[in-house]
Amino acid sequence: MSLDKQIAALQADLNAAHYVTYLTGAGVSTPSHIPDYRSKNGIYNGISESPEQILSEDTLFHEPAKFHQFVMENMYFPNAQPNIIHKKIAASCNKNGILITQNVDGLDKKAGNKHVIEFHGNLYNIFCTKCYERISYDEYKKSYFHEKDNGIIRPGIVLYGEPINEDILINSIKNIQNSDLVIIAGTSFVVYPFAQLLAYKKPNAKVWVINNTIVPAPEEVSTIISDAEKVFDKLYI
Ligand SMILES: [Zn+2]
Repeated sequence: MSLDKQIAALQADLNAAHYVTYLTGAGVSTPSHIPDYRSKNGIYNGISESPEQILSEDTLFHEPAKFHQFVMENMYFPNAQPNIIHKKIAASCNKNGILITQNVDGLDKKAGNKHVIEFHGNLYNIFCTKCYERISYDEYKKSYFHEKDNGIIRPGIVLYGEPINEDILINSIKNIQNSDLVIIAGTSFVVYPFAQLLAYKKPNAKVWVINNTIVPAPEEVSTIISDAEKVFDKLYI
């Protein structure tokens, strides 16, 4: 099937849907010039370390300088703006749907999406791990120690090895169970437990995957191999 025909079929499913769940990942934010931090290694004293090692509680508390440097260099892009994908998904969710995103950049909320579940948290929910006071990005940028009590400051994102908040998990499952259409975009869908959410869909729910590389998915899933930006640009919402 040609790309135009695939987009037309997706449009028809979207028009017929009562409630849509979107599942998104890093590929949705790369057109906003936010690189996928999972593809970045940190280099300290000439030694390269994986993001899984650095983005852990162990590094946060025992090597806070390393943690801070990694997030500041590879994850915070405060001037980034939402792109057409964020905007179209926001319009769709505000009408009749929900977005469950792995992204922690806050761009969906910036796009005006009022129905967002930030599955892995938000980089700009910054707080002190000692007194739990909220800290601004500008303050965190300057120092990872809270001036008041010397507590270590962290972003409210789920680190490797940390569990997903239970309320978020339950809320995500409820929404998937309510949906007659699931649209997965910009994610290779390999991060657990995010990838398992699809197991809770209605048996007859339609599922679409939009990604620029092939994603491991069950047979009944319709796949569009293309840049999500190109596809969303053509959708009427
Ligand atoms: Zn504090």
